[in-house]
Amino acid sequence: MSAHPPIIAVQDKSIDPATNEMVVLANDNQMSTVWDRFAAQKPQCKFGTDGICCKICHMGPCRITPKAKLGVCGADADTIVARNILREIAAGTAAHSDHGRMLVRTLKMVAQGKSTPFPFSMLSGAR
Ligand code: SF4
Repeated sequence: MSAHPPIIAVQDKSIDPATNEMVVLANDNQMSTVWDRFAAQKPQCKFGTDGICCKICHMGPCRITPKAKLGVCGADADTIVARNILREIAAGTAAHSDHGRMLVRTLKMVAQGKSTPFPFSMLSGAR
């Protein structure tokens, strides 16, 4: 049993039956899943959800409110939101750049005749 009661029925957690099977296995073995940890974070911080919390430097963290429309450095809500989303995109892209590298390497091998294209019929289950 997981540490937190499930908020989403197992069959609705993923469109992938194998994933749902693993969720049941994890719950049976008292291992938390992303759904359990998300539920444990409730209620989520509204400043963070809105992207108007900044902790880029140590003068913060700064939160934009009707009373405090600017961070200590003078950044307004638009600047803070824009910086947050750009930093998140850069971090996410860097973290997954290996997928792009493998794709480029595979395409190069196919172009050089050293590999065959991946048969899409395998993805769809078509024969
Ligand atoms: S809003 Fe400015 S002062 Fe506040 S944490 Fe961000 S960068 Fe630092």
